Amino acid sequence: MRSLAILGSTGSIGVNTLDVVRAHPERFKVVALTAGKQVEKLAEQCLEFRPSIAVLTKAEDAQLLEKVLAEKNLKLAVLYGESGLLSAVKDSACDTVMAAIVGAAGLLPTLEAAKLGKRVLLANKESLVMSGEIFMNAVQSGGAELLPIDSEHNAIFQCLPPHFSKLIADSKEKQNLGVEEIWLTASGGPFRNTPIEELNRITPDQACAHPNWVMGRKISVDSATMMNKGLEVIEAHWLFALPLQQIRVLIHPQSVVHSMVRYRDGSVIAQLGQPDMRTPIAYGLAWPDRISAGVASLDLMQFSGLHFSEPDLKQFPCLALAFAAAQKGGSAPTALNAANEIAVAAFLEQKIAYLQISQVVEATLNQLENSNPKTIEAVLAVDQEARQIAQQFCKSIVQK
Ligand code: NDP
Repeated sequence: MRSLAILGSTGSIGVNTLDVVRAHPERFKVVALTAGKQVEKLAEQCLEFRPSIAVLTKAEDAQLLEKVLAEKNLKLAVLYGESGLLSAVKDSACDTVMAAIVGAAGLLPTLEAAKLGKRVLLANKESLVMSGEIFMNAVQSGGAELLPIDSEHNAIFQCLPPHFSKLIADSKEKQNLGVEEIWLTASGGPFRNTPIEELNRITPDQACAHPNWVMGRKISVDSATMMNKGLEVIEAHWLFALPLQQIRVLIHPQSVVHSMVRYRDGSVIAQLGQPDMRTPIAYGLAWPDRISAGVASLDLMQFSGLHFSEPDLKQFPCLALAFAAAQKGGSAPTALNAANEIAVAAFLEQKIAYLQISQVVEATLNQLENSNPKTIEAVLAVDQEARQIAQQFCKSIVQK
């Protein structure tokens, strides 16, 4: 029986995780659930799954949740804020943490789970983008089991030899395994073929209407701009201890092949499936076993063809910015992530236009001097500074 803390249980990944858990009560017990603002949804989840800890962002929301649950005779520890999130990981007696908070807010509790040697199911790619080296060191020193939930990385994990990621980048043993490249697939989002001059009229709802996947709003916009794929390249670099030159992005509009590994002997091993996050979630939850995920089996006869092409960096300037930040290293990926979070939030609030997302990110990266943060405090300082700069750029756009 695995004891599970789900960080971000009210989001898209959180709800899908609970869906898999619900189907396997003999395997999983939920001991902690955390949300941002959705009190009612978290209350429903608490009543169904009966965790010992529930967490919300604000104290007043936590009080309200406590009251609602008390009326239903359910008593549990209701906490709030950053200390509440850390407590969900430390004090809930969980052995497995689903890291599914969106954005930088997920970093500290996910890092805590790594330090404490939990099984970490990593959906929150932002934490690895922000603090790759520090995070992977914490995984190693804490003895954590890091399993990727992002569908592409989960696919790569399934296609690589066992323990590949644990071997360092240039070890002889790793080279003998013959991995030449990993190929991350990307659908290209809803605007893959939209003329660039039409992109500025895109509304948030259009950007969030992903052709194949149902996801939270931030990652949906990131998929449309392909910043998501850029973040995933950085995530893959750290997760699999591979140099950036060995990581390639392919546009694959059907989202059937979730990613591939090309080997020295000419073999390419791919993982295929429906675009349904319950497959990678179930894989991570039960690994190394395989359990039913509630996902319909893939019918390849439905597809008249599977197509692959190179991404066009003019159509997707965010992807080009992410490649550049990845190459630069140091604080650049942290700044990229922070500026992108601010720009996407401003776009979703209709304060800036779609094409201005990349402009805000680029201007922030240009203004912020690159540094080499070696502690998590230094990473958080870069994150804050980049956010302030990006906010200023958003404001200056609004004032024009
Ligand atoms: P959602 O926006 O659907 O959910 C985000 C979750 O995080 C919600 O539970 C939300 O709470 C909570 N949350 C938001 N802000 C805060 C905060 N400041 N403090 C604490 N909790 C907070 O996102 P997704 O589920 O789509 O994505 C989650 C993560 O998984 C992201 O990092 C994303 O990149 C990654 N991912 C998602 C995929 C998908 O298919 N959705 C695929 C691959 C990766 P509330 O809603 O109550 O405010």
